[in-house]
Amino acid sequence: VTASETGFTGSPLDRVDHIRSDPDAYAQLATDWRARLLGLEGVDPILSSEGTLTWHTMVEVAVDAELILLGLRDDKPHFAAIAPGTTGGPMRSPAMFRALSLLPADDAAIFGTALSLISWHNNHRFCGRCGGTTILFRAGWGRKCDACSAEHFPRTDPVVIMLAEYGDKVLVGRQSRFPPGNYSALAGFLEPGESIEEAVRRELFEESGVRTGAVRYVASQPWPFGGAQLMIACIAEATGDVITLDTNELEDAMWVTRADVAKAFAGAPDARFKTPPPFAIAHSLLRAWLNEGT
Ligand SMILES: [Zn+2]
Repeated sequence: VTASETGFTGSPLDRVDHIRSDPDAYAQLATDWRARLLGLEGVDPILSSEGTLTWHTMVEVAVDAELILLGLRDDKPHFAAIAPGTTGGPMRSPAMFRALSLLPADDAAIFGTALSLISWHNNHRFCGRCGGTTILFRAGWGRKCDACSAEHFPRTDPVVIMLAEYGDKVLVGRQSRFPPGNYSALAGFLEPGESIEEAVRRELFEESGVRTGAVRYVASQPWPFGGAQLMIACIAEATGDVITLDTNELEDAMWVTRADVAKAFAGAPDARFKTPPPFAIAHSLLRAWLNEGT
């Protein structure tokens, strides 16, 4: 799996980090007549009839709007304005699920970046150190406390997402909020003091009772819903195949073979499960495992 094969990666924008801390260069971009503003309804993308992102001119920006410089494409500055609100994410919102199914990969990467940053700004209006009001700085890539001058920067939360492998089969599970028939890789947040490998083994054991040894990294993807997460996809070697389900986390879990996974990807009527959508890294992970065996 290469980076461009996982969802929300492959942004064509040049992030121009050096301009973020250069007020003169930034002012030039913000007043550039070619500058474009991401079309958002709240924090949801406004799609064109072709299913792509839409862009407005900067004339449509409110005078007091807080702006994020997303980057440059063909020398054109691209901005997003911070709007209040949250989105439930594709597994909870059918509209978002549809939008992400339509969006080209590069547009999804741009939207994901904007959404992660907007969510971060909305949740960091006050200083975590002194409680003072924070103001946007560094072209939208940070906030600074008005009272104590502490600087705050957007964070990414690491999440492990993994398949346990036992012989020629892997473990997939489903949460009750998934669409009917859908199964995915198990996942969970890394905790302080854990390596990726330790988090993979702990989450698999907690949710399914399956013990694992060696862990190998496969791919990663940013996930912009519910904050900013980095999904780290791995495959772990199981030492047994007895499942003890944590029913608080999972509704069901089962072992599937490569033939099962191939049928699921083909959408066969007798497939044992439905695969995660292409924009989810569990899709890329299952595909990578399937390809390893062929
Ligand atoms: Zn402060």
